[in-house]
Amino acid sequence: MPTISQQACEVKVDGAWQAATFAEARSRYMMAQKRCPACQGQIIIAGIYSGAGSLKLQHRRSHTGCPLKPETYTGTPTPHPQALI
Ligand SMILES: [Zn+2]
Repeated sequence: MPTISQQACEVKVDGAWQAATFAEARSRYMMAQKRCPACQGQIIIAGIYSGAGSLKLQHRRSHTGCPLKPETYTGTPTPHPQALI
């Protein structure tokens, strides 16, 4: 399993990206844009918050170059084709 920031994503606050946990992204930053910390593609946080580990990152559009998505990862990390900047 990948270990890179699995419990964290990035949220856009006042025009700048900053790290946030999934729980923070779902509560404090609910309305903010969110992106994957590995490929910078747009994500949503799925799941029900009832403790650590119950939330997970989902890409809006799947991307084979993202190491945080082992099911589709090709082995070579590449930026998301629709990366948020
Ligand atoms: Zn990604």
